[in-house]
Amino acid sequence: MFDLTNPIYQDADKARKHLESIHWPNGPVCPHCGNVDPARIRKLEGKSTRPGVYKCNDCRKPFSVTVGTVFERSKVPLNKWVLATHLIAASKKGMSAHQLHRMLGVTYKTAWFMAHRIREAMKEDVSTSGPMGGEGKTVEADETYFGRREDGYVSPQRKGRPYLKRKKPGKRSVVGLVERGGRVRTFHVKHATKASVRDILVRNVDRKSILHTDESRLYPDTGREYAKHKTVKHSAGEYVRGTVHTNTIENVFSIFKRGMIGVYQHCGEAHLHRYLAEFDFRYNRRASLKISDGERAADLLRHARGKRLTYRRIGEAAHA
Ligand SMILES: [Zn+2]
Repeated sequence: MFDLTNPIYQDADKARKHLESIHWPNGPVCPHCGNVDPARIRKLEGKSTRPGVYKCNDCRKPFSVTVGTVFERSKVPLNKWVLATHLIAASKKGMSAHQLHRMLGVTYKTAWFMAHRIREAMKEDVSTSGPMGGEGKTVEADETYFGRREDGYVSPQRKGRPYLKRKKPGKRSVVGLVERGGRVRTFHVKHATKASVRDILVRNVDRKSILHTDESRLYPDTGREYAKHKTVKHSAGEYVRGTVHTNTIENVFSIFKRGMIGVYQHCGEAHLHRYLAEFDFRYNRRASLKISDGERAADLLRHARGKRLTYRRIGEAAHA
């Protein structure tokens, strides 16, 4: 897969240089004011200075390559961050905090926290990647339900049926969109309703697209807003009609569920969106798109910028 003896996984200074080469291919960039002029940025050197610190002559602030990234202000050496990032980017089904804890030689708690920051880096920036689909393109939409909700919600159907185990909570809802031969985006929603599904569709999918769904009542109204809406009738045993099917998105859901069962058994509902981001990231850079492990790993390091997540924020979510 990749070479664990590579110095970027062993030596913090080499790891920092690797990160610099990815984030600053043309030399240092001041994260405070955007200055890129090499004549107006100088490297701070000396015994009392940490390595990798620069000073901007324009705004007079010091900075290093980790400022503004998910690695900022971490006590974990940068080589362990780079290794953790590469392990998560390369694993097919994800990597548990226990595995990371053993491989990195950090505490379980630190490994858990690192994994969540890395997942945060995996989030797609929808504002720059644009809508899915387009003229003549097919987008499949579907929803899936799994795991236990934590808010005690019981579905209305269950309430009227006392012979069902009364207190059993409802399942978590995930809505997924995938462009045939292209990208996927998945979303954790409180309830999959016509309104929540429409909101996701119109924000993410170009209205010139052809929409494929099953016969669920959630889609016909919104489907009319698209160039075409074609459905397969799963209840009648129909899964494929010509090119009409939702097999691609169902396959995405099954990869996700297998990963969640195998690796992430105790995922808090507040963190589900980050696990979804992780699976979307890997799917959108899958081997069949001719993206190598190395490119995927470098891309993840690149995505680490602009998404800093504080320990307190994740900690609060964990106990919410
Ligand atoms: Zn500056």
